[in-house]
Amino acid sequence: MAGESPITIRPDLDGVAPYVSPQRPARYRMNTNESPYAPPQRLVDEVAGEIKDVALNRYPNRDASDLHAAISAHVSWPADGLWVANGSNEVLLHLFLAFGGAGRSALTFEPTYSLHSLIPKIAATRVLQMPRDDVFAIDVDDAVATIDREQPDVVIVCSPNNPTGNCEPLEAVRALLEHAPGIVLVDEAYGEFADPGTSVMPLLASEPRLVVMKTFSKAWRLAGVRIGYMMAAPEIVAAMARVRLPYHLSAITQIIGRAALRHSSETLALVSAIARERDRIVRELEATGVMTFPSDANFVLFKVEDPQTIWQALLDRGVLVRSYADAPGLEGCLRVTAGLPEETDAFLGAMKEVLDG
Ligand code: PMP
Repeated sequence: MAGESPITIRPDLDGVAPYVSPQRPARYRMNTNESPYAPPQRLVDEVAGEIKDVALNRYPNRDASDLHAAISAHVSWPADGLWVANGSNEVLLHLFLAFGGAGRSALTFEPTYSLHSLIPKIAATRVLQMPRDDVFAIDVDDAVATIDREQPDVVIVCSPNNPTGNCEPLEAVRALLEHAPGIVLVDEAYGEFADPGTSVMPLLASEPRLVVMKTFSKAWRLAGVRIGYMMAAPEIVAAMARVRLPYHLSAITQIIGRAALRHSSETLALVSAIARERDRIVRELEATGVMTFPSDANFVLFKVEDPQTIWQALLDRGVLVRSYADAPGLEGCLRVTAGLPEETDAFLGAMKEVLDG
Protein backbone atom coordinates (compact mmCIF):
# COMPACT_ATOMS: atom_id res chain seq x y z
CA MET A 1 0.00 0.00 0.00
CA ALA A 2 1.77 3.08 -1.26
CA GLY A 3 2.18 5.83 1.30
CA GLU A 4 1.04 3.79 4.28
CA SER A 5 4.04 2.23 5.91
CA PRO A 6 3.26 -0.29 8.64
CA ILE A 7 6.62 0.61 10.16
CA THR A 8 6.32 3.28 12.83
CA ILE A 9 8.78 4.46 15.42
CA ARG A 10 7.84 4.24 19.12
CA PRO A 11 5.31 7.05 19.63
CA ASP A 12 7.17 8.38 22.66
CA LEU A 13 10.18 9.04 20.40
CA ASP A 14 8.16 11.57 18.39
CA GLY A 15 9.87 14.88 18.92
CA VAL A 16 13.11 13.28 20.12
CA ALA A 17 15.84 14.57 17.80
CA PRO A 18 19.18 12.77 17.37
CA TYR A 19 22.07 14.29 19.34
CA VAL A 20 24.15 16.67 17.26
CA SER A 21 27.17 18.71 18.18
CA PRO A 22 27.86 20.61 14.97
CA GLN A 23 31.30 19.86 13.53
CA ARG A 24 33.21 21.90 10.95
CA PRO A 25 36.77 21.52 9.74
CA ALA A 26 38.84 24.01 11.75
CA ARG A 27 42.45 24.45 12.82
CA TYR A 28 41.47 25.14 16.45
CA ARG A 29 38.74 22.71 17.59
CA MET A 30 37.48 24.32 20.77
CA ASN A 31 33.89 23.06 20.61
CA THR A 32 33.53 19.66 22.30
CA ASN A 33 35.44 19.90 25.59
CA GLU A 34 37.93 17.17 24.75
CA SER A 35 41.56 17.45 25.80
CA PRO A 36 43.83 18.85 23.09
CA TYR A 37 46.64 16.75 24.56
CA ALA A 38 47.15 13.21 23.25
CA PRO A 39 47.67 10.60 25.98
CA PRO A 40 51.29 10.15 27.18
CA GLN A 41 53.49 8.42 24.59
CA ARG A 42 54.52 5.71 27.08
CA LEU A 43 50.85 4.81 27.58
CA VAL A 44 50.30 4.58 23.83
CA ASP A 45 53.43 2.43 23.39
CA GLU A 46 52.43 0.04 26.16
CA VAL A 47 48.93 -0.31 24.72
CA ALA A 48 50.33 -1.01 21.24
CA GLY A 49 52.56 -3.73 22.71
CA GLU A 50 49.75 -5.36 24.69
CA ILE A 51 47.25 -5.34 21.85
CA LYS A 52 49.58 -7.56 19.79
CA ASP A 53 49.10 -10.35 22.33
CA VAL A 54 45.31 -10.15 22.71
CA ALA A 55 43.30 -13.18 21.57
CA LEU A 56 41.01 -11.12 19.36
CA ASN A 57 39.11 -14.28 18.37
CA ARG A 58 37.93 -14.65 22.00
CA TYR A 59 35.37 -12.62 23.91
CA PRO A 60 36.88 -10.21 26.43
CA ASN A 61 36.70 -10.49 30.23
CA ARG A 62 32.95 -10.03 30.62
CA ASP A 63 33.10 -8.19 33.91
CA ALA A 64 36.24 -6.23 33.03
CA SER A 65 37.42 -7.22 36.49
CA ASP A 66 41.00 -5.97 36.14
CA LEU A 67 39.80 -2.58 34.94
CA HIS A 68 37.31 -2.41 37.82
CA ALA A 69 40.06 -3.29 40.29
CA ALA A 70 42.34 -0.59 38.85
CA ILE A 71 39.65 2.12 38.97
CA SER A 72 38.63 0.99 42.45
CA ALA A 73 42.21 1.46 43.69
CA HIS A 74 42.44 4.87 42.03
CA VAL A 75 39.21 6.26 43.49
CA SER A 76 39.31 4.37 46.81
CA TRP A 77 35.81 2.97 46.34
CA PRO A 78 34.99 -0.78 46.38
CA ALA A 79 34.95 -2.54 43.01
CA ASP A 80 31.44 -3.94 43.63
CA GLY A 81 30.25 -0.33 43.85
CA LEU A 82 31.66 0.56 40.42
CA TRP A 83 30.07 0.33 37.01
CA VAL A 84 32.16 0.93 33.89
CA ALA A 85 30.80 1.36 30.36
CA ASN A 86 31.57 2.83 26.95
CA GLY A 87 31.61 6.45 28.01
CA SER A 88 29.51 7.97 30.75
CA ASN A 89 26.72 8.27 28.21
CA GLU A 90 26.44 4.48 28.21
CA VAL A 91 26.57 4.46 32.00
CA LEU A 92 23.54 6.78 31.91
CA LEU A 93 21.77 4.55 29.42
CA HIS A 94 22.30 1.50 31.64
CA LEU A 95 21.10 3.47 34.66
CA PHE A 96 17.88 4.47 32.92
CA LEU A 97 17.29 1.02 31.44
CA ALA A 98 17.50 -0.32 35.00
CA PHE A 99 15.87 2.46 37.03
CA GLY A 100 13.86 4.49 34.50
CA GLY A 101 11.42 3.22 31.91
CA ALA A 102 7.68 3.44 31.36
CA GLY A 103 5.79 5.08 34.20
CA ARG A 104 8.98 6.51 35.73
CA SER A 105 10.48 9.96 35.61
CA ALA A 106 13.75 11.90 35.75
CA LEU A 107 14.29 15.49 36.89
CA THR A 108 16.89 17.77 35.27
CA PHE A 109 17.91 21.38 35.90
CA GLU A 110 18.13 23.38 32.68
CA PRO A 111 20.18 24.49 30.91
CA THR A 112 22.41 21.47 31.25
CA TYR A 113 24.01 18.69 29.17
CA SER A 114 21.36 17.71 26.61
CA LEU A 115 22.01 13.96 26.98
CA HIS A 116 20.69 14.16 30.53
CA SER A 117 17.25 14.50 28.96
CA LEU A 118 17.80 12.55 25.77
CA ILE A 119 19.05 9.32 27.36
CA PRO A 120 16.13 8.95 29.81
CA LYS A 121 13.74 9.54 26.89
CA ILE A 122 15.48 6.87 24.81
CA ALA A 123 14.84 4.56 27.76
CA ALA A 124 11.12 5.55 27.76
CA THR A 125 11.45 7.64 30.90
CA ARG A 126 9.41 10.83 31.33
CA VAL A 127 11.64 13.89 31.78
CA LEU A 128 10.73 16.83 34.01
CA GLN A 129 12.84 19.93 33.42
CA MET A 130 13.24 22.73 35.97
CA PRO A 131 14.92 26.05 35.20
CA ARG A 132 18.08 27.12 37.05
CA ASP A 133 18.30 30.57 38.64
CA ASP A 134 19.97 33.59 37.01
CA VAL A 135 23.49 32.43 37.92
CA PHE A 136 22.66 28.91 36.70
CA ALA A 137 22.52 27.42 40.21
CA ILE A 138 19.79 25.00 41.24
CA ASP A 139 17.09 26.80 43.21
CA VAL A 140 17.04 24.32 46.08
CA ASP A 141 13.68 25.37 47.59
CA ASP A 142 11.99 25.08 44.20
CA ALA A 143 13.74 21.80 43.48
CA VAL A 144 12.72 20.29 46.80
CA ALA A 145 9.10 21.38 46.27
CA THR A 146 9.09 19.79 42.81
CA ILE A 147 10.67 16.59 44.12
CA ASP A 148 8.09 16.37 46.92
CA ARG A 149 5.28 16.84 44.42
CA GLU A 150 6.51 14.81 41.44
CA GLN A 151 8.51 12.07 43.19
CA PRO A 152 11.00 11.62 40.32
CA ASP A 153 12.78 8.27 40.24
CA VAL A 154 16.11 9.84 39.24
CA VAL A 155 17.31 13.42 39.89
CA ILE A 156 20.24 14.48 37.71
CA VAL A 157 22.76 17.08 38.86
CA CYS A 158 25.70 18.14 36.70
CA SER A 159 28.64 19.55 38.67
CA PRO A 160 30.49 21.33 37.14
CA ASN A 161 27.52 21.95 34.88
CA ASN A 162 27.89 21.78 31.13
CA PRO A 163 27.67 24.29 29.44
CA THR A 164 27.54 26.89 32.24
CA GLY A 165 30.66 25.75 34.18
CA ASN A 166 29.43 26.19 37.77
CA CYS A 167 29.60 23.57 40.54
CA GLU A 168 26.65 22.77 42.75
CA PRO A 169 27.29 23.25 46.50
CA LEU A 170 27.39 20.01 48.52
CA GLU A 171 24.59 21.39 50.67
CA ALA A 172 22.30 21.57 47.63
CA VAL A 173 22.99 17.94 46.75
CA ARG A 174 22.36 16.94 50.38
CA ALA A 175 18.99 18.71 50.30
CA LEU A 176 18.00 16.93 47.09
CA LEU A 177 19.03 13.58 48.61
CA GLU A 178 16.93 14.27 51.69
CA HIS A 179 13.80 14.68 49.59
CA ALA A 180 14.37 12.46 46.54
CA PRO A 181 12.57 9.13 46.77
CA GLY A 182 15.05 7.46 44.41
CA ILE A 183 18.47 8.02 42.91
CA VAL A 184 20.34 11.33 42.86
CA LEU A 185 22.95 11.17 40.11
CA VAL A 186 25.79 13.69 40.15
CA ASP A 187 27.65 13.87 36.83
CA GLU A 188 31.22 14.99 37.59
CA ALA A 189 32.51 14.62 34.00
CA TYR A 190 34.55 17.82 34.52
CA GLY A 191 35.30 17.30 38.22
CA GLU A 192 39.08 17.07 37.77
CA PHE A 193 39.17 20.72 36.63
CA ALA A 194 37.38 21.93 39.78
CA ASP A 195 38.51 22.39 43.37
CA PRO A 196 38.57 18.85 44.88
CA GLY A 197 36.37 20.19 47.70
CA THR A 198 33.46 20.53 45.28
CA SER A 199 33.19 16.76 44.64
CA VAL A 200 30.29 14.93 46.26
CA MET A 201 32.44 11.80 46.62
CA PRO A 202 32.70 12.22 50.43
CA LEU A 203 28.90 11.86 50.64
CA LEU A 204 28.90 8.45 48.91
CA ALA A 205 29.63 6.33 51.97
CA SER A 206 26.66 7.71 53.91
CA GLU A 207 24.17 8.21 51.05
CA PRO A 208 22.98 4.88 49.62
CA ARG A 209 20.94 6.61 46.89
CA LEU A 210 23.76 8.80 45.57
CA VAL A 211 25.41 7.92 42.25
CA VAL A 212 28.58 9.76 41.15
CA MET A 213 29.53 9.53 37.49
CA LYS A 214 32.91 10.26 35.89
CA THR A 215 34.53 9.94 32.50
CA PHE A 216 37.89 9.28 30.83
CA SER A 217 36.88 11.62 27.97
CA LYS A 218 38.00 14.96 29.44
CA ALA A 219 40.90 15.24 31.92
CA TRP A 220 42.02 11.67 31.09
CA ARG A 221 42.55 12.58 27.41
CA LEU A 222 40.78 9.47 26.08
CA ALA A 223 37.54 10.66 24.45
CA GLY A 224 38.19 8.40 21.47
CA VAL A 225 38.31 5.26 23.59
CA ARG A 226 34.91 5.61 25.30
CA ILE A 227 35.26 4.86 29.00
CA GLY A 228 33.07 6.24 31.75
CA TYR A 229 32.10 4.92 35.16
CA MET A 230 29.91 5.47 38.15
CA MET A 231 30.29 4.87 41.87
CA ALA A 232 27.32 3.88 44.00
CA ALA A 233 26.05 1.36 46.53
CA PRO A 234 26.58 -2.26 45.39
CA GLU A 235 22.77 -2.78 45.26
CA ILE A 236 22.46 -0.09 42.58
CA VAL A 237 25.46 -1.37 40.65
CA ALA A 238 24.15 -4.95 40.69
CA ALA A 239 21.09 -3.86 38.73
CA MET A 240 23.22 -2.48 35.90
CA ALA A 241 24.47 -5.96 34.93
CA ARG A 242 20.89 -6.93 34.07
CA VAL A 243 20.58 -4.38 31.27
CA ARG A 244 24.02 -4.22 29.67
CA LEU A 245 24.84 -6.24 26.60
CA PRO A 246 27.22 -9.15 27.19
CA TYR A 247 30.91 -8.25 26.79
CA HIS A 248 30.11 -4.57 26.44
CA LEU A 249 33.70 -3.45 27.15
CA SER A 250 36.01 -4.61 24.35
CA ALA A 251 39.38 -6.19 25.12
CA ILE A 252 41.04 -3.10 23.62
CA THR A 253 39.01 -0.74 25.82
CA GLN A 254 39.97 -2.72 28.90
CA ILE A 255 43.68 -2.63 28.00
CA ILE A 256 43.64 1.12 27.38
CA GLY A 257 41.70 1.83 30.57
CA ARG A 258 44.19 -0.13 32.66
CA ALA A 259 47.12 1.59 30.96
CA ALA A 260 45.55 4.99 31.66
CA LEU A 261 45.38 4.16 35.37
CA ARG A 262 49.03 3.07 35.40
CA HIS A 263 49.91 6.49 33.94
CA SER A 264 47.38 8.52 35.89
CA SER A 265 49.82 11.05 37.38
CA GLU A 266 51.41 11.88 34.05
CA THR A 267 48.01 11.98 32.33
CA LEU A 268 46.38 14.25 34.90
CA ALA A 269 49.41 16.51 35.30
CA LEU A 270 48.11 18.70 32.47
CA VAL A 271 44.80 19.47 34.21
CA SER A 272 46.31 22.52 35.92
CA ALA A 273 47.72 23.82 32.61
CA ILE A 274 44.24 23.58 31.06
CA ALA A 275 42.67 25.30 34.08
CA ARG A 276 45.19 28.14 33.69
CA GLU A 277 44.11 28.61 30.05
CA ARG A 278 40.47 28.62 31.18
CA ASP A 279 41.19 31.35 33.70
CA ARG A 280 43.16 33.35 31.11
CA ILE A 281 40.19 33.15 28.71
CA VAL A 282 37.86 34.47 31.43
CA ARG A 283 40.24 37.28 32.43
CA GLU A 284 40.92 38.46 28.92
CA LEU A 285 37.34 38.25 27.68
CA GLU A 286 36.19 40.23 30.70
CA ALA A 287 38.93 42.80 30.03
CA THR A 288 37.48 43.36 26.57
CA GLY A 289 34.01 43.80 28.03
CA VAL A 290 32.62 40.36 27.13
CA MET A 291 30.43 38.84 29.82
CA THR A 292 31.67 35.42 30.97
CA PHE A 293 30.28 32.93 33.46
CA PRO A 294 32.60 31.58 36.20
CA SER A 295 33.82 28.11 35.28
CA ASP A 296 35.20 25.17 37.24
CA ALA A 297 35.44 23.05 34.08
CA ASN A 298 37.65 23.03 30.96
CA PHE A 299 35.43 25.46 29.07
CA VAL A 300 34.04 28.98 29.35
CA LEU A 301 30.53 30.15 28.53
CA PHE A 302 30.34 33.76 27.38
CA LYS A 303 27.63 36.07 26.15
CA VAL A 304 27.75 38.29 23.08
CA GLU A 305 25.28 40.48 21.26
CA ASP A 306 25.32 38.74 17.92
CA PRO A 307 26.33 35.13 18.65
CA GLN A 308 25.69 33.72 15.19
CA THR A 309 27.83 36.34 13.45
CA ILE A 310 30.61 35.98 16.02
CA TRP A 311 30.53 32.17 15.80
CA GLN A 312 30.94 32.39 12.01
CA ALA A 313 33.62 35.10 12.21
CA LEU A 314 35.62 32.94 14.66
CA LEU A 315 35.27 29.95 12.33
CA ASP A 316 36.44 32.10 9.41
CA ARG A 317 39.60 32.67 11.49
CA GLY A 318 40.05 28.92 12.11
CA VAL A 319 38.48 28.82 15.59
CA LEU A 320 35.51 26.51 16.12
CA VAL A 321 33.45 27.08 19.30
CA ARG A 322 30.03 25.79 20.33
CA SER A 323 27.01 28.01 19.79
CA TYR A 324 24.08 28.05 22.21
CA ALA A 325 22.57 31.05 20.43
CA ASP A 326 19.16 29.40 20.17
CA ALA A 327 19.19 27.28 23.32
CA PRO A 328 16.52 28.19 25.88
CA GLY A 329 18.07 30.05 28.82
CA LEU A 330 21.37 30.50 26.96
CA GLU A 331 20.37 33.09 24.38
CA GLY A 332 23.43 34.93 23.09
CA CYS A 333 25.87 32.40 24.53
CA LEU A 334 28.89 30.68 23.03
CA ARG A 335 31.08 28.11 24.75
CA VAL A 336 34.82 27.75 24.17
CA THR A 337 36.90 24.77 25.31
CA ALA A 338 40.16 25.61 27.11
CA GLY A 339 43.24 23.74 26.02
CA LEU A 340 46.63 24.67 24.60
CA PRO A 341 48.12 28.15 25.14
CA GLU A 342 48.25 28.62 21.36
CA GLU A 343 44.55 27.79 21.13
CA THR A 344 43.82 30.46 23.73
CA ASP A 345 45.96 32.92 21.76
CA ALA A 346 44.16 32.07 18.51
CA PHE A 347 40.74 32.39 20.12
CA LEU A 348 41.48 35.65 21.96
CA GLY A 349 43.17 37.11 18.88
CA ALA A 350 40.18 36.22 16.71
CA MET A 351 37.74 37.62 19.29
CA LYS A 352 39.65 40.89 19.40
CA GLU A 353 39.59 41.20 15.61
CA VAL A 354 35.90 40.39 15.46
CA LEU A 355 34.91 42.77 18.26
CA ASP A 356 37.10 45.57 16.89
CA GLY A 357 35.10 45.14 13.70
N1 PMP B 1 28.54 14.31 31.02
C1 PMP B 1 28.78 15.57 30.65
C2 PMP B 1 28.36 16.69 31.53
C3 PMP B 1 29.38 15.84 29.41
O1 PMP B 1 29.59 17.11 29.03
C4 PMP B 1 29.76 14.77 28.58
C5 PMP B 1 30.45 14.94 27.25
N2 PMP B 1 30.27 16.09 26.59
C6 PMP B 1 29.47 13.48 29.01
C7 PMP B 1 28.88 13.30 30.24
C8 PMP B 1 29.72 12.29 28.16
O2 PMP B 1 30.96 11.86 28.17
P1 PMP B 1 31.41 10.44 27.67
O3 PMP B 1 30.22 9.66 27.18
O4 PMP B 1 32.38 10.72 26.60
O5 PMP B 1 32.01 9.82 28.89
